[in-house]
Amino acid sequence: MRIRTTIILLAAACAMGLAGPAAAKLKVAATLSDLAWIAAEVGGEDAEVSLLCPGPQDPHYLPAKPSLTRKLRKADLLVYNGLELEVGWLPVLLRTARNNRLKPGGRGELECSLAVQNILGIPTGRTDRSQGDIHPLGNPHYLLDPRNGAAVGTLIAERMAELDPAHADAYRARAASLRQEIDGRLALWRDMAGAATARPTIVYHQHWEYLLNWLGIEAIGAIEHRPGINPSPGHVSEVIALGRARADVFVVAATWDKLDIAEKASERMGAPLAVIPGAVGADPAADGYLAMFDVICGRLGQATASDAAAAEGTP
Ligand SMILES: [Zn+2]
Repeated sequence: MRIRTTIILLAAACAMGLAGPAAAKLKVAATLSDLAWIAAEVGGEDAEVSLLCPGPQDPHYLPAKPSLTRKLRKADLLVYNGLELEVGWLPVLLRTARNNRLKPGGRGELECSLAVQNILGIPTGRTDRSQGDIHPLGNPHYLLDPRNGAAVGTLIAERMAELDPAHADAYRARAASLRQEIDGRLALWRDMAGAATARPTIVYHQHWEYLLNWLGIEAIGAIEHRPGINPSPGHVSEVIALGRARADVFVVAATWDKLDIAEKASERMGAPLAVIPGAVGADPAADGYLAMFDVICGRLGQATASDAAAAEGTP
């Protein structure tokens, strides 16, 4: 899609005799690789996007480096996930970057969770540190529902249009085209997930709530009892017992999870394990937001299809 846009824009520029030096681009800093990809799609030729947390890195934790501060210092717009996903590292970086354009509540900062209608996993009752790295405002991993990615694209386009009115139409057109592409693939992705959509799962971290909700997969347990804290052997044993009681269960872990624990647990349950990317770039094949869902749904389908015995309910 980006290539097509480039060709159209170049053709327009040539026709108008505008082949001179390009106008200054909107400088965008994105916290997550998914957001960087969406911002680059929507920003096209009119924006320059830099990424803070690379795909293979667990976005809950990011060591603050001077190179990250420099990216924030130059930015006209910061797009971030919100719901406290980046709370451990973004405020620190923003303090050192001292970029007035990105002040909280200003036009230069955009919390993308504002695009999401239905925030899942809002804890009920009191939460405190003893429960681990809990997400008190709800599950922040909403980009794992592709429909939310489309909504975020529209939100980003509106803000880009506000900051750079000369290219407002182009931002909006690219966001609309991204939405169309995502909508056009939803059924295909569901097909790729295949048998997984009819089986219960045990997750490693509560990373997949939005993905599972979209695909209609029921999560019956989590290996990581308290988010961000290694599970105790006692808890792992409980989850294994839970898994063994359901012959058709499968296990889902992210590429950055403690895979030795996930592998051992799934082996003891006799359940297949799908290791899937939790972000764009977390796996080499998931090199874009759309490609990420190709990989995720493909692996869910493969893991559950190769396990025909369990699918038929054989203990
Ligand atoms: Zn999380």
